Amino acid sequence: MKNPKAKSAAARPAVGPAKAKSRPMRARPAYRPEEVHEIFRRFSVQRPEPKGELEHVNAFTLLVAVVLSAQATDAGVNKATRPLFAVADTPEQMVALGEGEVGRYIRTIGLWRGKARNVIALSQALVRDHGGAVPDDREALTALPGVGRKTANVVLNMAFGQPTMAVDTHIFRIGNRILLAPGKTPEQVEAGLVKIIPPQYMRHAHHWLILHGRYVCKARKPDCPRCVIADLCKSPEKTTSVPAPLVEIGATGGLQAAQ
Ligand code: SF4
Repeated sequence: MKNPKAKSAAARPAVGPAKAKSRPMRARPAYRPEEVHEIFRRFSVQRPEPKGELEHVNAFTLLVAVVLSAQATDAGVNKATRPLFAVADTPEQMVALGEGEVGRYIRTIGLWRGKARNVIALSQALVRDHGGAVPDDREALTALPGVGRKTANVVLNMAFGQPTMAVDTHIFRIGNRILLAPGKTPEQVEAGLVKIIPPQYMRHAHHWLILHGRYVCKARKPDCPRCVIADLCKSPEKTTSVPAPLVEIGATGGLQAAQ
């Protein structure tokens, strides 16, 4: 089987070979709605209540953890935030702690100086403009220091249950590799996914895709024999069309039982 790069596959219309006609063929979605439904139904059976791996105790600590997680691992962030959140889990407490002290807690995380500055600045903004509460709308969130669209989408989804799609490296790769929502930018992949994912699955779709990308459809080499959607997947990179057994593996489980 050919193994073209995802980028070139994504750029191609997901239809059969172009015929020698003067008019170009119109691209159509690679997946039929019932196939998309089945993909997410299977993910929902695998992980009925998926959870992110960033530890937090409320919307504020979730926001801080996501801001700290840029270019850092969830495990590394959790190690730093456990003692930090034990002493400061509100914007007021974080402001009282001060930038220097926050920096001391997060020194093991990449770019910690700038992140400490942002954590204090966003805490001050929450106290000043929102009465110490985390706002539940995108515009207000992205106006906070250090908060971009992806961070806002994670907070809106996890803290407020909104059907947003925060496109991280795993979701971007899957959207393109399996042609579910091809796009050159995270925003294009986000728009494609929001358009095709059935509403009843939007709440958890973000985590399902991240966990699928982290543990199965991995960056360097997809682990297709362990994939529950191998029969549905339209990736030119897949190595089997036989789906793995569909069993529940837990909220954040990485298929440990099968390793
Ligand atoms: S079959 Fe392979 S390429 Fe397709 S989604 Fe599964 S792991 Fe990814």
